[in-house]
Amino acid sequence: MSASYDPDNIFAKILRGEIPSHRVYEDEHTVAFMDVMPQSTGHALVVPKAASRNLLDADPAVLAQILPVVQKVAIAAKAAFKSDGVLIIQYNEPAAGQTVFHLHFHVVPRFEGQPMRKHTGTMENPEVLTANAEALRQALRGR
Ligand code: 5GP
Repeated sequence: MSASYDPDNIFAKILRGEIPSHRVYEDEHTVAFMDVMPQSTGHALVVPKAASRNLLDADPAVLAQILPVVQKVAIAAKAAFKSDGVLIIQYNEPAAGQTVFHLHFHVVPRFEGQPMRKHTGTMENPEVLTANAEALRQALRGR
């Protein structure tokens, strides 16, 4: 039997506003917020409002809606944090590194010569998250 969707996963709770997040973008289908354990400065997550565990069970229509937002956030993050590149990561199932079971795309600004921090490593200082969220919101507004 394939694994199912748990409506009480942490991103479902963030989407319902039951737990706080540093939200930077929202439209009819999609939300983006800062990762609390960023792998680099400005690490954000792009999440569909529709329930799916990961890419494997997602409705293709949802995938078509989310990728333009991933692009938008990646371009804005590159500008906001003056990064040299942007890494997009998306894990499916624990064997592949997935730890939160609501589909999401990681948008990770990358800087020449700067190693990436560990996946789900260290909690960021809330003030840093607030400042980075504001920088990313401003860059998104500028587009
Ligand atoms: P994945 O499922 O792709 O392994 O990663 C889940 C990501 O969500 C990790 O990068 C982790 O740092 C992040 N994360 C885990 N819990 C929370 C949370 O409560 N809020 C936010 N904003 N991010 C979280």
